[in-house]
Amino acid sequence: MAMILKAAQFAAVKHRDQRRKDENASPYINHPLALANVLAVEGGVENSEIICAALLHDTIEDTKTTAEELTAIFGDKVTGIVLEVTDDKSLDKAVRKEEQVRHAPHISHEAKLVKLADKICNLRDILASPPADWSADRKREYFDWAARVVAGLRGANPALEAVFDGLHGRQSELL
Ligand code: NDP
Ligand code: ZN
Repeated sequence: MAMILKAAQFAAVKHRDQRRKDENASPYINHPLALANVLAVEGGVENSEIICAALLHDTIEDTKTTAEELTAIFGDKVTGIVLEVTDDKSLDKAVRKEEQVRHAPHISHEAKLVKLADKICNLRDILASPPADWSADRKREYFDWAARVVAGLRGANPALEAVFDGLHGRQSELL
């Protein structure tokens, strides 16, 4: 419990100046909190290291946080999961997206759960509060790409996979 709250607090501080891409520019921290909630409530995940990694999953990619900083506070296991779900920002965006598809089957079980929750949360956001300037085509493109990533994560958590499939099945609602 203490480590989970520490991770939530750490992420809140690191993401304090960031906003999501939705029309209301929601506080970024809502997103890592949503992942942790999906894992615990919908995925039945009880492992605190996975919940911490979910809370911290975008800190290295989207803030100045370093792996060394995470290791000193949360240890090698949590940091390792975060690194597995961190894109290499030196690569072109389109290449990064293809790398996610290619890597998905080969990452650890723990990282697969975090990645699955990330895709669930982003599909939910696109359905309920999408990036302000995205066309319906762009949203559909994201749905298709997310499904290709999730294909490589199958078997990790059937309950979460069913949640993803339910959201993916709502593609026709996209405007
Ligand atoms: P992304 O597709 O990477 O943006 C989606 C990401 O934004 C999500 O993965 C999520 O990442 C984050 N995010 C923040 N707020 C929201 C929200 N409200 N709903 C959903 N996701 C949110 O966009 P990029 O601009 O990085 O472009 C990447 C690719 O898109 C390019 O490779 C390009 O090929 C393609 N593209 C397509 C266009 C088109 O019109 N079809 C135009 C331009 C680019 P996280 O979980 O990390 O927060
Ligand atoms: Zn994310």
